[in-house]
Amino acid sequence: MNHEVKNGAGSNAASRSFPGSGAAIRPASGLLQVSYELMTPGPTQVAENVRQALSLPCVNPDLDPDFYSFTEGICHDLERFFHTEDHQALILSGEGILGIEAAFASMTEPGDRVLVLDNGVYGRGNADFVSLYGGTPVLYSTDYHAPIDPSALESYLAADHGFAFAALVHCDTPSGMLNDIDALVPILHRYGIPVIVDAVSSAFGMPIDLEKTPADILCLGSQKALSAPPGLSMLLVGPAAWEKMDRRRTPIASFYASLPAMRNYARDQWFPYTMPSADMNGLRQALNNVLSDPGIFLRHGKLAAASRAALREAGLSLYERAGFSDTVSVFLVPDGTTDREILSGMRREGILLAGSFDVLAGKVIRIGHMGENARAEKLQRTFRALQKVLTGLEIPLQADMEQVFLEKLQES
Ligand SMILES: *Cc1c(COP(=O)(O)O)cnc(C)c1O
Repeated sequence: MNHEVKNGAGSNAASRSFPGSGAAIRPASGLLQVSYELMTPGPTQVAENVRQALSLPCVNPDLDPDFYSFTEGICHDLERFFHTEDHQALILSGEGILGIEAAFASMTEPGDRVLVLDNGVYGRGNADFVSLYGGTPVLYSTDYHAPIDPSALESYLAADHGFAFAALVHCDTPSGMLNDIDALVPILHRYGIPVIVDAVSSAFGMPIDLEKTPADILCLGSQKALSAPPGLSMLLVGPAAWEKMDRRRTPIASFYASLPAMRNYARDQWFPYTMPSADMNGLRQALNNVLSDPGIFLRHGKLAAASRAALREAGLSLYERAGFSDTVSVFLVPDGTTDREILSGMRREGILLAGSFDVLAGKVIRIGHMGENARAEKLQRTFRALQKVLTGLEIPLQADMEQVFLEKLQES
């Protein structure tokens, strides 16, 4: 091995051989082997049992009848996990963006006016998908430092509610913004507006109950709090969304991103394209890990609160004024240094953090505490390293972040 493995989750598959996998994989064969601990807000760390599941012998997903029941089993567990009997779960072979694009491709018809709730980079970005599929996006833009105010949205809709559907982001990851979907979705529904909710970076780290808050399409990804590798999108599609698709006057301008193309896979025993069976074994195991972890939401909440306290007490400023996600913490790059200096310093300490992009590029640093990243000892190491790096950059800090983090965690 070239690199010392620095974390529990990163124990080394390269030196092992699993049944059916043939000889042990050697780093010399040109594989990408990391020497840092991923603490980014996606992709997140992947547990060893998920990596083992990914390496099982391959099946032929089209010809093996067991593969259909295997897929249905995952989908039914997703439906149960999100508390719904009305929604159908679907799995698409493509990173989280494919699921989001598929939702817009399938829902948007030329001429549709679509309400795009924008208080973050992903929120605004949804307007591009609307335009791409021939709709007219109408942006409802509010402060990026705070969640969307339900009563302000209510007043806006009282004056104008002629929308084919609306789009909303639960956790807007580049800023760490958390919108209150439990308050916002019912307001949109009162005006008969179906809602697409991007929950890619909140789901599995924060509770979402589709019985209580029936988002019409809920978009999920494999690589955030679920802690499987990037590559899969999951969606939960409700009756009002299917009805809108059934009523289309024009065909969906995509095959790969068509939800109706995937809808009847179980009945017809037919997938529109060959499914990524290895990725889906990883997904199955990652979902098992979540299902057997009843304390998962509580843990995310406690670790997030302790992380915010550590950053604040050290004198750093959080990007958000209100609306904090339990899955990611975002702080402003302090005066006197740059995001690059902090990120490269952290990487030298063996920890990968993230900057941000679009209007937030260069302005903030993000710590992803979701899924397998959401473990006290990993965040403890992260804050110890961050303290060292910022001190080395001569940024004055008012408290020891590792100590505050541990204290707050103990109190919670
Ligand atoms: C990660 C993420 C996605 C998927 O997009 P990436 O290509 O992984 O950036 C979509 N929406 C949100 C809110 C996300 O955090």
